[in-house]
Amino acid sequence: MSSTFVSSSNPWFGAALLNWYPRHRRDLPWRHTRDPYAIWLSEVILQQTRVKQGLPYYLDFITTYPTVHDLAAAPQDEVLRHWQGLGYYSRARNMHHTAQQVVQEYSGRFPGTYAELLKLRGVGQYTAAAIASFAYDEQVAVLDGNVYRVLARVFGLAQDIAAPASRKVFQQVADTLIPADQPAEFNQAIMEFGAIQCTPVKPDCLFCPLQSQCYAFQHGLISELPVKSKAKAGRTRYFHYFVLQYEDTLYMRKRGPKDIWEGLYDFALHEADSADLPARTVVDTVEALGGRIDLAQVEEPVQSLRHVLSHQKVEARFHPVKLEAPLTPKALATAGLLPYKASEIESLPKSILITNYISNIGF
Ligand code: SF4
Repeated sequence: MSSTFVSSSNPWFGAALLNWYPRHRRDLPWRHTRDPYAIWLSEVILQQTRVKQGLPYYLDFITTYPTVHDLAAAPQDEVLRHWQGLGYYSRARNMHHTAQQVVQEYSGRFPGTYAELLKLRGVGQYTAAAIASFAYDEQVAVLDGNVYRVLARVFGLAQDIAAPASRKVFQQVADTLIPADQPAEFNQAIMEFGAIQCTPVKPDCLFCPLQSQCYAFQHGLISELPVKSKAKAGRTRYFHYFVLQYEDTLYMRKRGPKDIWEGLYDFALHEADSADLPARTVVDTVEALGGRIDLAQVEEPVQSLRHVLSHQKVEARFHPVKLEAPLTPKALATAGLLPYKASEIESLPKSILITNYISNIGF
């Protein structure tokens, strides 16, 4: 596939997007501010969830902690309580730490350039570009999944967007497109365009202002672009293991028929659609198994292990749960679990995945 991209300049692209954006954009509170703290806050939350779900969290945080000083000075437990429901509490702790870093090392003022922003904990290229352009009008192009898709389709870029080396190519293209006089507006526009017009499935090509120049549309390649390589092992399954432990006992179960690892022993399993499990689901699952855990106690899984089989790949996440009392016979029967001591577990048949996990935790 040859690209239509001409490296000198494509002013029509920015002009079309900047014309489209004011008429289609969603009205979101972080789009009404130039405060780098508020912009950063919104980006941290949006990395965790979709716009609709993230909005109440953003409003809660910005109301409770209107400045980076307020967030930095807050007790960590309190910050975690506000984060409750977003999952992955380590991200909330990182956010809290970054706020303290800004206060201590930068006197409470966010660094004023893309390069300096990158030095903050947890701030990667995307977030740095978003803050630098939205807050300071720095001419640096953002690159997220939406932007990759729009550029690949409009300019016929066939590089695999899952390959790290492709980032450079897309960044170069985006950097030549972003206008010097409206970098913030342009970045917002291209992301919003990808989110609501040039969507992954069924983009609205019929009413698209870029249609006449869009490579994918003109060549019938919309479903081919962007190119994103898939894992060789076929489908990926996400196993969330709940490793229930009471004193020196682990609760395990024998796997049933009609699935991989039939007859081998593993832990209580929750299979999900993704590697991320909302904290609420963790709490509910533990309760359904007869245990108890508070939302604030939910941690990232202690271990992530991958196992590649011939037709599928298993991404396993292990959630250890220390119980304060043994599971009741009723709970054991419901969950199909049985208690085992370390010496007994040794002799149980287990997949390599489970064997590796047990050996890693030194049980
Ligand atoms: S014509 Fe279709 S594929 Fe091309 S930019 Fe517009 S919405 Fe996207």
